[in-house]
Amino acid sequence: MFVDIAKVFIKAGDGGDGAVAFHREKYVASGGPDGGDGGRGGNIVFVADDNLSTLADFRYKRKYVAAKGENGRGGRCNGKKADDLVIRVPRGTLIREVSTGRILADISDKEPVIVAKGGKGGWGNPHFASPTRQTPRFAKPGQPGEEFEVQLELKLLADVGIVGFPNVGKSTLISVVSEAKPVIADYHFTTITPVLGVVRMGPECSFVMADIPGLIEGAGDGAGLGHQFLRHVERCRLLVHMVDVSGSEGRDPKEDFRIINAELKKFNPELAERPMIVAANKCDLTDDDVVEDFRKFIEEQGYKFFPIMAAISYEVEPLLKEIQEQLSKLPPIVRYEPEAQVLPPAEEVGASDIRITKHGGVWFVEADSLLRVLRMIDFNDSESVQYFQRVLISSGVIDALRQAGISEGDTVSLYDFEFEFVE
Ligand code: GDP
Ligand code: MG
Repeated sequence: MFVDIAKVFIKAGDGGDGAVAFHREKYVASGGPDGGDGGRGGNIVFVADDNLSTLADFRYKRKYVAAKGENGRGGRCNGKKADDLVIRVPRGTLIREVSTGRILADISDKEPVIVAKGGKGGWGNPHFASPTRQTPRFAKPGQPGEEFEVQLELKLLADVGIVGFPNVGKSTLISVVSEAKPVIADYHFTTITPVLGVVRMGPECSFVMADIPGLIEGAGDGAGLGHQFLRHVERCRLLVHMVDVSGSEGRDPKEDFRIINAELKKFNPELAERPMIVAANKCDLTDDDVVEDFRKFIEEQGYKFFPIMAAISYEVEPLLKEIQEQLSKLPPIVRYEPEAQVLPPAEEVGASDIRITKHGGVWFVEADSLLRVLRMIDFNDSESVQYFQRVLISSGVIDALRQAGISEGDTVSLYDFEFEFVE
């Protein structure tokens, strides 16, 4: 079965904890603090693997958790950072956060992409030493790693997509122009997997063609098989719309052409604007005047028209030349940019897990539920700082500190941020 969509949970590793330790040596009375820092948690990294063509593996394994960083130890021994967890996906996989729908990454190129960052290791106690605090008996715990529920969505990377009704000869065409070997048969829906083929036009010149499985009426609404494959057309720079001009199955080629175009438009209006070439196949099964009448119909709408007989490669060459010619003028295959997170309204940010501890005059606040928002804040930007202040109030951090007995001017330490408490 061809699987091109999957939902999984990913969690990067938590950071290791910082250590509380003091230097010990014979004859040395009381050594200074020497607790090491915790190591960073493992990232969740995605990488494209050309040996994979579906997301089928993800139907069985749905949870991916990277390792925690090592804790720091005495003697200023920092914890080792954990290994990244590398997840292999077919090239062209889009990763979206389920809760917001935003794109986290498009795994289409060679470079691995970090999708969830490992938590930073906590600082060991030497970081908290100061002239007034020579024996800091505390260290920081590691920060939690990022976690997301993500949707993986394969959108093939092809220059040209062949679209058309089932049985018009799409698979036949790709099999005669490339080394791809799709299933060919004269019953509907033989192709239930999009097939990619490389078409070589010369030593330095080639393009990738995709055979998109049969679209049928209603595909744009989710009816039938076609719908799930329409997403694979979305990145194609050019479409070849193939029609059985002979109407060998008792259909009207003009009607077929209109129906498929309407389906494309319904699925994604941008697809209707995509450059399109029309190939009229099975010319052997009909008369020249039928083909010419269809040519007129197509050319009047401004499309290039190519009558062919895919099964015997007849007149396929001029079609390929036109494809090559048009591709040379079109922009490269689309890559989707990651979408930024949108800060939630400060008033709506709550925190149910606030923990407050006090060590050596510093108030340590932890609230994992806040961390996500905190990571998004840019402290060089005054508006963001104001936002942060509002979040501290709305989330209940300020109240919790007051209840714990904080005084004006005390230092508050919240993950990476330190600030002075002012009423
Ligand atoms: P697809 O569903 O669009 O991929 O169609 P296929 O490539 O599987 O072809 C469907 C049927 O049409 C097969 O039996 C092919 O052999 C046949 N076919 C393909 N091209 C031609 C052609 O040029 N002339 C004729 N007569 N039959 C063809
Ligand atoms: Mg086919």
